[in-house]
Amino acid sequence: MVDKIETPELTGEIKIPKIEPGATSHYRPNQASEKHNNNLGFPGTRVENWQEKSIEKMDDLLSKYKSLLVYLDSCVRCGSCADKCHYFLGTKDPNNMPVARQELMRKVYRKNFTVGGSLFPVLSGAEDLTEDVMTEWYSYFHQCSQCRRCSVYCPYGIDTAEISMAAREIMDTAGIGQKYCNEILGKVMDVGNNLGLTKPALANTLEFLEEDVEEETGVPVKFPLDQEGADVLLIAPSADFFSTPHIEGFMGYAKVFHEAGISWTVSSYASEFANFGMFIGNYETMQKVATRIKDAARELKVKRVIVGECGHAWRVAYSFWNTLIGPFDFLDKKYKNPTHICEFTLELLDRDAIKVDLTANDNRVVTFHDSCNVSRGSRMGDSSGGQFEIPRKLIKKVCGNFVEMDSETIRELTFCCGGGGGLLTDELIELRVQGALPRAEALHEVMKERGVNTMAMICAICKAQFTKVLPSYGIDMEVVASLHQLVSDAIVLKGKVGV
Ligand code: SF4
Ligand code: SF4
Repeated sequence: MVDKIETPELTGEIKIPKIEPGATSHYRPNQASEKHNNNLGFPGTRVENWQEKSIEKMDDLLSKYKSLLVYLDSCVRCGSCADKCHYFLGTKDPNNMPVARQELMRKVYRKNFTVGGSLFPVLSGAEDLTEDVMTEWYSYFHQCSQCRRCSVYCPYGIDTAEISMAAREIMDTAGIGQKYCNEILGKVMDVGNNLGLTKPALANTLEFLEEDVEEETGVPVKFPLDQEGADVLLIAPSADFFSTPHIEGFMGYAKVFHEAGISWTVSSYASEFANFGMFIGNYETMQKVATRIKDAARELKVKRVIVGECGHAWRVAYSFWNTLIGPFDFLDKKYKNPTHICEFTLELLDRDAIKVDLTANDNRVVTFHDSCNVSRGSRMGDSSGGQFEIPRKLIKKVCGNFVEMDSETIRELTFCCGGGGGLLTDELIELRVQGALPRAEALHEVMKERGVNTMAMICAICKAQFTKVLPSYGIDMEVVASLHQLVSDAIVLKGKVGV
């Protein structure tokens, strides 16, 4: 239970709130230390000429990314996006309306890069990047989870996520980094994963999982580490190694490989699928993190790369890997690289290569939370909409009771969990609770009306966020499940005790 947090009341519908200007102007994440910034090649602390550096960086980004230029130039203030952000709906702060969030950068852009803005700033709504404006930037560009919901409703396709990413990169360049993201990225560079889990600690964890699964099932399911020549390199978010309900999903992956008779391995060098380089909008960092995975795949001489349940990381893999670290021409061309674990498991089930006992999940009535980066930043499988259909088909293969939430809150219209985009940090807990409001409303509705007791998902951040914040809405954290946890419970293991 989260204490002393102003939790919005569930009313049975997702309502547009009456605005409260400045309601969350004091929400801001902790700043990164000198060490954390330096680790990523950014200035350790705010540079003296931070305004000049920031404008220089903005100029650089505008020349590199034409999309950013178009987004800053083309808003007609139609207001279609205004009530589409979960953070606005949950916090009531008008600066959390996507159009207003964009305006924080647009006014600086107008002042520095347009003739009208430099000559007639008041008429054009142009402003210098002052200390106050930078304070607003740091606060409100860290109240955007880069979920892209607003862009679905924008007639011009303006993507606020990209503006937030650019703002964060500009701030990093001026030495104003965010602790949570930069510290984690440093750990990945040093140790190979977000948790700072060393090779011996990872080996112990995998051994413990082997013992646990064998004790539960009587079947010696292996969790191999650094096994050269394995068919598959599995890249999972490191949360899968240690916490509920992530770990139950990880056990599910292992059981699927075991039952299908496919050799696999985890890499101690690249033991992290998450790639926070995307959250800070820095492609060089994103590339460095992703390169570790390519190097590990080459080193371990695997045939293919299969990735676990992580939303933003799937977006990075699906949409960016080829450009950033491709080609993967040393892998077996028979396979799609990377393959999402959901595609992999569904394909095995479709051709009866593994068996499930549907009744094992009879105690569950399941709904599915579409994660924003999977829904709006990637695809899955070979046909359009595969990112929506494949997880649903998989759930229906392993559980007989499936219920959809409100159609305005699923698929491409899904609401972010409230903790994405590098905001899953304790000092932003109020924002996280309030940002979860739309999903909590839709979930509560199907729990009340349709008896739903499980919300399955395929994103490590969603799992961590919901288990933490749903109790504030009176919803038990046990509702949150990994999709492969349902697979794990239903899969029939040959020789399983009791079968
Ligand atoms: S990208 Fe998502 S979090 Fe950011 S403004 Fe748009 S709806 Fe809000
Ligand atoms: S929907 Fe698009 S054009 Fe309309 S206000 Fe929002 S960003 Fe501007």
